[in-house]
Parts: sequence; C-alpha cells; structure tokens
Amino acid sequence: MTSILEVKDLQVIFSGFKALKGVSLEVGDREIVTIIGPNGAGKSTLLDAIVSKSPVASGNVYFQGKDITNKNPYEIARMGIGRKFQNPNVYNELTVFENILLALKGTHSILNSITAKLTQKKRDKIIDVLDRIGLLDDAATKVSSLSHGQKQWVEIGMVIAQDPTVVLLDEPTAGMTPEETYATGEIIKSLAQNHSVVAIEHDMEFVKQIAERIVVLHQGEKLAEGSVQEIQDNPQVIEVYLGREKIDEQVDIAA
Ligand code: ADP
Ligand code: MG
Repeated sequence: MTSILEVKDLQVIFSGFKALKGVSLEVGDREIVTIIGPNGAGKSTLLDAIVSKSPVASGNVYFQGKDITNKNPYEIARMGIGRKFQNPNVYNELTVFENILLALKGTHSILNSITAKLTQKKRDKIIDVLDRIGLLDDAATKVSSLSHGQKQWVEIGMVIAQDPTVVLLDEPTAGMTPEETYATGEIIKSLAQNHSVVAIEHDMEFVKQIAERIVVLHQGEKLAEGSVQEIQDNPQVIEVYLGREKIDEQVDIAA
C-alpha cells in the first residue's frame, strides 16, 4: 500500500489527560478508512491532531512522506488535507453555488468572488462539485433553506472544492434522516475515486455501506483494525462498542 497519510505513535495530552495514548494509522491512496468507537474515545482528537488543531505531544504525522507534525493548520490545508468538522460551517445567507465558489482555491473575499467575473474553468469546477454532492438542482438555493443533511453536503462540497488529497470527515451523517445518510454514503464512495477519505462514524449500517477498513478507538488507544467482518467478529469490539449497539437495537424493537 502506498501510504498517503501516516500517523505514528501519536499522543495528545490535555492538561495531563491523555486523550490519545500512542495511536498509529495508515491511509492509502484513494482508500476509505472509517474510525469508530465510543464517545470520548479520541476520534475527533485524532483528526484534530492530524491538522494541528490539537497539539501533538509526541509521535508524528506524515503526509506523502513529509513530516507535518504540529505544522501550521493553514499550511496543512494548503498541502492537501481537507477537514470537515462536526457542525456544518456554511454561509447561510449565500446560495449553494456561492458557498462552493468561496471555497475554491485562490478565492480570498466574499465580495471579490461574488462580484468578479467567473471564468469558465471556475464555473465548470463548481458545477462538477455540485454534481458530486447531489445539489446541482439547488445551485441557486439559499443555504438557509436547505435541510440539515443538505447543509452537510454543502460543507463536504466546500472541502472537495479545494482539491484535497485527503478528506477528513467527522461524523458526516450526524442529524441526518436514513435516506440522507444513505445518500451521504454514496457521495463518500464517489469521493474515493479522487481522494483518500478518513471518516468518523457511529452508524454501523453506514459504516458497512462505505467501509473498506475500520479502525476502532477506545480510551485513546487503537483497540482493533480490520474489515467489517473482522471488526464485527472481534470479541473485544463487541464488548466495548458493538455490544452496546445490539442492546440499543433490542430496546428499539421492544419499544
Ligand atoms: P470522540 O470524538 O471519540 O467522542 P474526543 O476526541 O472528542 O472523543 O475526546 C476524547 C477525550 O478528550 C474526551 O475525554 C474529551 O473530553 C477530551 N478532550 C477533547 N478535546 C479536549 C480539549 N480541547 N480539552 C480538554 N479535553 C479534551
Ligand atoms: Mg467526536
């Protein structure tokens, strides 16, 4: 496997509390890696540490073989790692098209980008992104009138508009309907034609839909790693994580 992103023995410590206790991870070219684990396991912290939003105490992050540990977040984004946060961070008063336009490389201010004449190349690029996130028909719609799920897709679009090599997604289906969740899975799978993807997720149906390789985090450590089947059959994973889901399902059925 040609590794695009490599995390080696990463530790993140918050005022004495070890949120990550030496986690290693490799992400290949155009591969989808899904991270699961109970709340507080350190999943978001891992993505934060990759993009220097949380400081790395020890260990290293390598991107295309270069050590990017604790580099400036803007520099990391510029190098090609795009990160979508848990809550959509979009411009509600602008249209879907304008939101993607603002995210394009080389776009510096709202006023400039909206009043400046669009080159055909930029327009084609935006249309391609809108097509990939399934919002072509909503190009002229104000983001404020979209559903929560559609707003999440706009933000995914804003990330891919920057042509990242690696896309990091933190709970991309949070708050979505089952239909939106499924559509998001298909969007992510199509992203992997051009990008490597690391997605944090807790919905196991969704994980099964997209996962090639799953990494399970628990209390700041990697508990297991493998295919969907290997993870589902892993007794430790069942005990700390999947077992709980099964109990939830039984409660759902009983209710
Ligand atoms: P997950 O995303 O797996 O639910 P997080 O990575 O958000 O978990 O958090 C892992 C642990 O680190 C939690 O115990 C959380 O309270 C703690 N933590 C996360 N961010 C900070 C922070 N900025 N300061 C202090 N503690 C934090
Ligand atoms: Mg989290």
